[in-house]
Amino acid sequence: MQKLIDFLKKGTCAATVVKTIAEELDQAGFEELALSENWQLERGHSYYVKIRDTSCVAFRVAQEEGNPYFRIVSGHTDQPCYKLKPQPELKDGASNKLNVSVYGGPIHNTWLDRPLSLAGRVVLKGENPFDTKACVVDLKKPLLVIPNLAIHMNREVNKGKELNPQVDLQPLAGLNMDGAFITKALSQELNVAEDAILDYELYTYNADEPTVVGFNGELLSAPRLDDLVMVGAAVEAMIENMPKTGITVLAALDNEEIGSRTAQGGGSAMVSLLLEKIAACFGKDRSEYIDALTGSFMLSADVAHAVHPNHGEVHDKVNRPVMGGGPVIKLDAGQRYMTNAADYTVYRQICEAEGVPVQTFISRADMVSGSTLGPVMCGFLPCRIVDIGTPMLSMHSAREMMACIDYEYTKRSFAGIYKL
Ligand SMILES: [Zn+2]
Repeated sequence: MQKLIDFLKKGTCAATVVKTIAEELDQAGFEELALSENWQLERGHSYYVKIRDTSCVAFRVAQEEGNPYFRIVSGHTDQPCYKLKPQPELKDGASNKLNVSVYGGPIHNTWLDRPLSLAGRVVLKGENPFDTKACVVDLKKPLLVIPNLAIHMNREVNKGKELNPQVDLQPLAGLNMDGAFITKALSQELNVAEDAILDYELYTYNADEPTVVGFNGELLSAPRLDDLVMVGAAVEAMIENMPKTGITVLAALDNEEIGSRTAQGGGSAMVSLLLEKIAACFGKDRSEYIDALTGSFMLSADVAHAVHPNHGEVHDKVNRPVMGGGPVIKLDAGQRYMTNAADYTVYRQICEAEGVPVQTFISRADMVSGSTLGPVMCGFLPCRIVDIGTPMLSMHSAREMMACIDYEYTKRSFAGIYKL
């Protein structure tokens, strides 16, 4: 559990999540590969490759070839938040504010009156225009607050208020500052000259600490549970389990919250190309790779909705996942979650073998289901895919909630996939 808490603290945006994963993998003896070099891979070894700093694919190769050829767990590294616009510094009287765009689908009102910080990537000048260098940065200190309007200025606030992102969600950054104070802070943090900074991509994050709550300490309230619970469990399970057969893969991918359609996201051919490159290192030609891929198995691991204690009516009558009840297989007749009985029963049996309880989620027939990586990734990875997730409350709030025991259950189920 402490490992998850540390991961939640360090993984403040997609780039710091990948940096943290890479540190864990380095410590565990995984070898980093560059995306565009010729690989010499060996059986019995473990590797990882970063994709543009914000996605990461790690894999371990058993001594024996396996069936399925690849056993994959995928999750996402990004989170709903507010992203700084170019030249974000705004001045309004004494107030210094930041101009932001909405990234993904945060529950806006949960982001008000909280200490926020900034993390992301800074691009530095190189030798020529193509030779730019991106650094990962986390300013760590609480720097910003999005202030609520006092109830005396809006007596109707408790009847519900629609928040306009361009008006209501501009964070306050300080008082009476002049000039480009973000560039100045970045140059100090990175110890580089201000004019070496070409530009930056910075994301706000909730600087609150994760907290264990409940009379028996059974719940975890924390920012970024979606999807660091799944990614954290997969990293731990992969490090602890060398496969006996086949190739085990962890794909931690950026941009799920905005639809995955980026070069480093799940909607890109990148994971499929990387898997083909791995298979080629072990002698498979393209036709053999296609055969290996179609028989491979992937868990698309993203959090699931537990029944809300005050709003049980928004769930299906029968399929009602509870916190503490183990991972959830997510189904949808419209295939917004991958729904194939021959595939999801594989995961159910793996959970049973590991002594892990497993639950089922399907939306009410009069509600539209959410979606995630599985249906997007199947376009480039036409293998056996199952959507699963740890049950939780308040998805996309600045603080989300889950049962501590479900982290252990989820990790054990991933170990069941990885150790075979
Ligand atoms: Zn998610």
